[in-house]
This record gives sequence, C-alpha cells and structure tokens, in this order.
Amino acid sequence: MTDYKATLNLPQTDFPMRGDLAKREPVMLANWETNGIYQQIRAASLGRPKFILHDGPPYANGPLHIGHAVNKILKDIIVKSKGFNGYDAPYVPGWDCHGLPIEHKVETMIGRAGDKVDFKTFRAKCREYAHSQIDVQRAGFQRMGVFGSWEQPYLTMNFQTEADIIRALGKIAASGHLVRGFKPVYWSVVGGSALAEAEVEYHDKVSFNVDVAYGARDDSKVLAAIGSSAGEGPVQAVIWTTTPWTLPSSLAISVGAELDYVLVQSTHQDQPVRLIVAEALLESFLARTGLVESAILAHFPGTVLEQQVFTHPFYDRDIPVLLGDHVTLDAGTGCVHTAPDHGVEDFVVCGRYGIETINPLDDKGVFRANVEHFAGEHVYKVDPKVIALVKERGQLLSEGKLTHSYAHCWRTKTPLIYRATPQWFISMDAQGLQEQAMSAIKGVRWVPAWGQNRIEAMVGQSPDWCISRQRTWGTPITFVVHKETGLLHPQLQEIIEAVALAVEQSGMDAWYDFDLSSVIDDADQYEKTQDTLDVWFDSGVSHYSVLSKREELAQYPADMYLEGSDQHRGWFQSSLKTAVAMNGSAPYKQVLTHGFVVDEKGYKMSKSLGNGMEPQEVFNQFGADVLRLWVASTDYSGDMAFSKAILTRTSDSYRRIRNTARFLVSNLNGFEPARDALGVDDLLALDRWAIDRTLSVQTELAHLYDNYQFVQVVQKIHHFCALDMGGFYLDIIKDRLYTAQENSLARRSAQTAMYHVLQAMVRWIAPILSFTADELWPYIPGQDKTTVFTETWYPGLSAFAADETMNSDYWAIVQQVKDGVNGVLEQARNEAKVGGSLTAEVTLYCDAELHATLLQLGDELRFVTLTSAATLADLATTPSDAMPTELTGLKVSVVKSTLTKCGRCWHQTEDVGNHAAHPELCGRCVENVSAAGEQRHFA
Ligand SMILES: [Zn+2]
Repeated sequence: MTDYKATLNLPQTDFPMRGDLAKREPVMLANWETNGIYQQIRAASLGRPKFILHDGPPYANGPLHIGHAVNKILKDIIVKSKGFNGYDAPYVPGWDCHGLPIEHKVETMIGRAGDKVDFKTFRAKCREYAHSQIDVQRAGFQRMGVFGSWEQPYLTMNFQTEADIIRALGKIAASGHLVRGFKPVYWSVVGGSALAEAEVEYHDKVSFNVDVAYGARDDSKVLAAIGSSAGEGPVQAVIWTTTPWTLPSSLAISVGAELDYVLVQSTHQDQPVRLIVAEALLESFLARTGLVESAILAHFPGTVLEQQVFTHPFYDRDIPVLLGDHVTLDAGTGCVHTAPDHGVEDFVVCGRYGIETINPLDDKGVFRANVEHFAGEHVYKVDPKVIALVKERGQLLSEGKLTHSYAHCWRTKTPLIYRATPQWFISMDAQGLQEQAMSAIKGVRWVPAWGQNRIEAMVGQSPDWCISRQRTWGTPITFVVHKETGLLHPQLQEIIEAVALAVEQSGMDAWYDFDLSSVIDDADQYEKTQDTLDVWFDSGVSHYSVLSKREELAQYPADMYLEGSDQHRGWFQSSLKTAVAMNGSAPYKQVLTHGFVVDEKGYKMSKSLGNGMEPQEVFNQFGADVLRLWVASTDYSGDMAFSKAILTRTSDSYRRIRNTARFLVSNLNGFEPARDALGVDDLLALDRWAIDRTLSVQTELAHLYDNYQFVQVVQKIHHFCALDMGGFYLDIIKDRLYTAQENSLARRSAQTAMYHVLQAMVRWIAPILSFTADELWPYIPGQDKTTVFTETWYPGLSAFAADETMNSDYWAIVQQVKDGVNGVLEQARNEAKVGGSLTAEVTLYCDAELHATLLQLGDELRFVTLTSAATLADLATTPSDAMPTELTGLKVSVVKSTLTKCGRCWHQTEDVGNHAAHPELCGRCVENVSAAGEQRHFA
C-alpha cells in the first residue's frame, strides 16, 4: 500500500490542547506586567469616548475570598468588553483604608493608642498595616487577570485623598447639610464609638424582661382624668421593658392616643392595686405576671392620660405621660417607659414635650458618678441590680428572660446600646437632602431593576447620618468649634483649605499638629474637633476625591458603580447622599449589583461549614480563566452557586471553547493571510455563510456585553462553538482542508473563513477568558500586534449580499438537514448497520421545496452529509424502512456502502481503482494528487 499521508494537509499547531492554566497563567501575568499591558490599552484607547466604572473600594484587611473574585471579575469583564465596544475604559482600583478593623488589629499588635503608644506612632502603624494588606490583596486581584492601574490605585489613606475627603466635608458643611446634634446613636461600648447603620447586625440575645408599676403622683387627678373612682388601692401605670438598664434614665411614659386602655382592679403582694394597661394586652399581661383581675373599673382612650404625672419606681422623679406614635399593641402593656438617651423614638417624642437627655453613661457604657444607686456600674452587668431595686421598692410585677433579635456591632459582635452623644450629622431634611436623593435615584439605571425599590426604601426611611466617630485611625473631622458655644468658626472654609493643604503634604497627622493661629486671629477661643469621620464617608466621597480628581477618570457622574447587593445600604447610599449634598445629583448613571456566593445547596460559603474554597486553591486546580468563566456563566442577579463540582463542569465548557480555537489555529498552519486569503466574492458559499454567521453572532454578543448579559454571552459563544462550528461547519470542511490541494481554491476558501472566525472569536472570549485569548493571539497567522486587548470587535466580517440565494436562511435549512441525517446515521451505527458515516450511503426523501433546495448542492450534498453517497428522492416514494427526522419534509434511509474505500479520503466510491498509477484512490483523490485538483463550488 502506498502511504498517501504526506499528500494530505493535516492540522498542525503548537497551541496546546490542554490549558494547563495553573502553570501558564502566571507566565502570562509576568509578560503582561513586563509589557505594560494596561498602559498599552490606555494608549490605544486614547480619543475614544470614555466609559468610567468607578471602583468601590474593598476594605484593606484580610485575605480574599470568592466573593471578592466575583466582584472584581465582573468589573473586569465589563471594563474589557467596553474596550472592545470602542470605549476608553480605564479602571482605577481602590482600597478603603481607615477604620475600626485595622485599628483593632494594630491594637493587638502594639497596644492602644494613647495608652501603650502615642497617637502618631499608632496611626503610622495602621498605615503600614493597611499597605501590607493591600499588597496581598492586590496580588490576588492581579492573579485573577484583572487589568487596572494597580501601580497607582486609589487609597483613602493617600495624603491627597485624605485632603480631598476633608475638602468634601467642608463643601457639605458649606451647603448647610451638616448639623451637630445630641442624639441617641448606636453605640459600641466595647469599641467606645458610635456606629453607622450599615455596621449594625442582628443576633439573638437573651434579655431580662420585667413589668414595672409606676405609681400615680396623685391618684385622684389620674382617676378624674379617667372618669372613674371605682375600686381600691393605689393607681399605677404598668410598663414592660427588655432593657432594665435603661430604667435609671426613664423620664416619661408614652401611650398611644388612639389605643384603648383599662383600669383594672387587682391585688399585688396582698394589697389591692388599680393598674392601667392597654385593653388588648390585658390577657397576656395577666398571664405573664400571674396577677388576677377582679374587675375592670374603667375603659378610656390613651389621650385622657396625656400629661398625667406618675413617679419613677426608685427615684424621686416625676414621670409625665406622653402621646407617642411609636406605641403599638405588639407586646408589653401599651404603656412604654421612655428614655430619650436610649432610643430614637423616645428621643423624638421627648423632644416634642421639651424633655431633654440626661447623658447617664460614659463612652465605655459605665454609669456616671451622679447616677444614684448605679454609679460605676457597667450596662452589660447592671440589669439584675436594677431589677432587685425595683423589687425592693415593691414595684416589680413580673420578671423573666426572653431571647430576641438584638442589635450587635458587626465587628466586635457585642450588643449595642443607644446612647445620646454630641455628634455631627448629615441631616436628611435640613436642606431637603432626602427629597433630592429620592429624586436623583429615579434618574439612575438600576441593574437588576429591583435595585431601585431597594435603595428607595432605604433612603426614604433613612435617619440623619451620624458621620462622627471617636477613633484614632480615621480621617479627622477638621472642624474648629467655639469653646463655650460649640458653634463652628465662621471662617470654616478657609480653615479647611489650609488644613487640606497641610494634609496633602504629610497626611492626617497634620491636623493634630495644625496651628490654628496661622489661619484665625481668635484661635484661643476655639478648639479643634477630635472626632474622626465614619469610614463610609471616606469611600462615600470617592466620587469627589477620585472620580473627579484623577486625571484618567475626570468624569462625574461615573457611568457605573458595581457592588454586591448589600451596598444599597452601604456604599451606593453613602455615595448618593454625599454627591447630592455636594452636587445635587447622583454620582452614577448606572448601578449594577450582584448576589452572594453560596454552595450548591444555597448555604453561605464558610470555612467552618467546610464548603469554602480559597481563590488560590481555585487558581491551582482550575486556573483563573475557569473561575472567570464561572463568574460570567452564573446569573449574578441572585445568589451564585459555587462548588468544586460546578467548577469541574465549567472546565468542560472551557475545553469546548479552547478546542474550537485550537482546531481553527491548527488548520491555518502555513496560511499567510496577505498571500493566501481570498476576497469574500471568491469564497465557496458555505465559507461565506461562516463569515456571515460570525458577523451576526458578533453583533449579538456586542449587544449582550453592552447590557451586562454575560450568561447569554457564554451561552452564545458555546452554541457557536458546539453547533455552528463543531457540529456543522468545521465538520463539513475537514474533508476539503485535508484532501484538497494545499493552495487550491477549495482549501484557501475554507482557511480564509476560518481565519476570520478565529479573529472574531479571540476577541469575543477575551473579556472573560483573558488568559486564553492572549495566549491564542500570537498563533493567529500574520499577527503583528502584541495583544488582543488593544483591539475592538473584529471589523473584517461581512454579511451576505442582499441578492445571495444561498444565504443564511438557505444554510439554516441545510444545517437542519445535516442534523436530521446525523440522527439517522447515529441510530444506524448503534444498530451496527453501518460504521463511520463514510461507510454509509443515504437517500433523502424530500418534499418538493426541500428537494429543490438541496438539489442546488449537486454532488456536494454528500460532503455536507459526510457520507459516501447522498441521493435525493421524492417524499412520496419513501420506503417503509426510511427514518423520520425533525424536519417534516425529510425522511432518510441508510444503507451500508458496498463500494471500495479510497485509501486517502476514505470515501467509498465507484471510481476507486480506476486509475492504474493510484489503484487505491478515488477519482477525486487522483485529481488532487496528480493533476490540477478537484473543483468545489458550495461546500
Ligand atoms: Zn479519495
């Protein structure tokens, strides 16, 4: 037998079949860094319209987890795809650097500021620690293939940024949104600081609950108001509380104006008493206290009790009755003990009646020296002592314990208290901020759309934002207040600018060293505020300190903010409020949110559950591109399921794409586009289809990318690789590529189409499979550019001419016919009637229309069906053994070919052996081996 292998054009490439991503990706990263990939992209994008995705800064502490990866990879896919869509899309990553977690960490390392070390040293250590964390996180983000200005990220602790945060504060103060208030705020007694709403989380806590009787100052006055003198014993209003420690601060009782109350005759400690409780809660009250109701003496509305006076259970203190909207019938007695120091609603209702706070607790939650009975006691421990005192005074009607959901500090996990302290607030209504913010929300595109309801609900109910903290590692509130009046110095803006200039030079320490007399003449009457800013303010004003200030961004508002869906209460909101306060508008045009990573069963990922996986583990086992493909192919609008099994499936999908690319590259071996590529008009019809099809897929992909529909992007690419290419086009053209003459029209036509397909595909996958795309890039024949990432979508594709008869509709039918024949062949193979498809001869029984369609392919129908013979026949003549297909107008019969197999192309044809010089070959192969070469027209 002659070996004809040398006469075939077999595929050949060095582009590896296996991704081997864990090994290959780090090499590519190093190349990207050496070649300055990000700078190259910037240079290539110069002059294009801008698309600015402004990075929400992660906190500079702790290792990265898969949630970080989702966030950064989604951003990267958007930024890169915007580049391919023709934008200049710079990406400046940021870090949030101040705040309690770093302060806590540094405390464990060197001790408390002002105690073990001086403040300056402490802050320097915090800065150093934050830098070390940033280095680790940055390496992790870069390993994910995320492009950006990694050498010059924005850090909220950069001197320039600190200065601009201070300037932003000055602007907000100048616009009248800032107020100083003495107000109950969530207070961490462990941290010794106020907390933002976003820092509060709820956990179950066991609390005491007690019913306490407040006796009337004058029974007859209360009875007169009620309009009854029936019964006997002292008249007492009963309150119920789960925070006995607030009783020393009890200043009033609130009742509901519209609620119905009763005066009940009962007996306590063998003495008759007349108790006031809400009618609807009487039954549960009696059950809880074990008291017996012997008569209901009167019914009356809450309004009659207004301004009646009771007495404190253990202090000689008048306790007036107030009408409060916050009183409900959910639990308790309908009479609510009211302590303005320890509750927002209490504070509000007392404010209405001119009752002020008394400030009984210090920063650490310890009762001050002037608090009778409890001076020096800690709030966490005082409950039993309070209860004992109430009992001793004979005013305790019940005591018990209950488990309820209670506010805790998200960092220290300790219970929070409300504590009234002097704080700086961004007022939601002093200058109509709430209203303006609500209106700004409507001008933003929220992806997914429910994001709008969510942020509207939160901003609509938002209390004033307390922005002051009593910490060391934070941007200072650089206010100067009068020692006596507490009022801000009238030259506030001048002072702020002077301080900002100093901070630009040497960081926040400049504030503490700042000599006031260098700016103002009356410095001796004023003092510098020692508070720091809530870290949410730092990141919240990045639209000013970064977006508007960084040269490569310099755009306000940003085109997009993108974070996890918890940021409706966090960064999206803090950014909105500060931007509206400063500029009267939202800082973003679009806000995209993503869900959280959960395991396959929907549980949160965590180390303790054993379902977690570190990013590094993923890189080592699967590679960053597989992780990126998982992110892209998972619906980010809800929870995102993640597991090893899911990644393994994602790897399969990755391989399909890689193999398709490899097939294209390996069959372009020796193809030089400048020399060998044909014009579109010279191509075979099927090859023109491939280019037309690629163009329409590219158009759809550009649209999907532009609308952040990455799941569909992946599906479409996968569909293209598996069905359009693998299952149809490439399957058919293999024969031509391998057996036609090297430089024949038949082969060059196919290669030209494949070249264009490859050029397009490498761009489509680049935003997602960044490593693989750039690995593939130099394998494209004639490549003279260093990276795919400076490109836009491939411009070398063209659609069918309008008058083309073998157009996309035509080939869509052919594709269905091929699928139909494939199905029948597969069944015949399963039944061992035939072997490979070239051992088969098929007859296609077609209706008239299909018959006419397929007739156009002539003898090339057998190449489309990949059989040794394909004959057309009338559907009416279909024999009983023909098989139906999904096309109603097509049935197919299969027989095993009895003809001799060509030793070169494996087709079984009548003319094998007709040529004496090549007895093992078919006529077509003889033509290709020793003559001018076969002619192809369509496929
Ligand atoms: Zn042959």
